[in-house]
Amino acid sequence: MPFAIKSLTLGAFATNAYLVADTATKNALLIDPVDSPDLILAAAAEAGWSIQMMVATHAHLDHVLAAAALKKQLRIPFFAHKDTPPLLREVPMQGMYFGLGNLPAPPEPDDLLDDQATVILDSLELKCLYTPGHAPGHISLLMEKEGILFSGDTLFAGSIGRTDLPGGDHALLMHSILDRLMPLDDRVRVLPGHMAETTIGRERKTNPFLLAHR
Ligand SMILES: [Zn+2]
Repeated sequence: MPFAIKSLTLGAFATNAYLVADTATKNALLIDPVDSPDLILAAAAEAGWSIQMMVATHAHLDHVLAAAALKKQLRIPFFAHKDTPPLLREVPMQGMYFGLGNLPAPPEPDDLLDDQATVILDSLELKCLYTPGHAPGHISLLMEKEGILFSGDTLFAGSIGRTDLPGGDHALLMHSILDRLMPLDDRVRVLPGHMAETTIGRERKTNPFLLAHR
């Protein structure tokens, strides 16, 4: 499976967006249309990739602010978990809460994903793992054959997602991490919604939030 990943850190919350491409067809999908649509389009153009679809790991504003503009410009579908629409509709309110003014609402998802659903683009296959706790309807996306996990705001290098925002639930987040992510192989690369890449093995051995649960 010839594939490549480009990561971009964008917006007021330094959120990671990931372009994942089938390098044979040069079609790409975007995991988290975070912000700055022009920069996302420029990164795709620079690589010679054509963005065909976008998937949100969850509906916090810093992960979906570019969705409306990219959908308008590229006419591509937008996918998110079936529990995200209420929170998606609250993005303008989230903007007020963070003092960012009245932000435009993201589009309604074209298709709603459920746990174990597979997002397919050419030779790329991403499996949805329902991992709530940080936000309602949060999913992590797993490229099983390649051993790559896009963990959104569930698991970070040395940390875990915050649970103090509306709909956050620490016990549920720990359950998601321990039950859905920790069974993965130590070698699985973890590409999170914020900060640097890590691996399942490294977090299993060193993440203070997980060590407390051993
Ligand atoms: Zn978030």
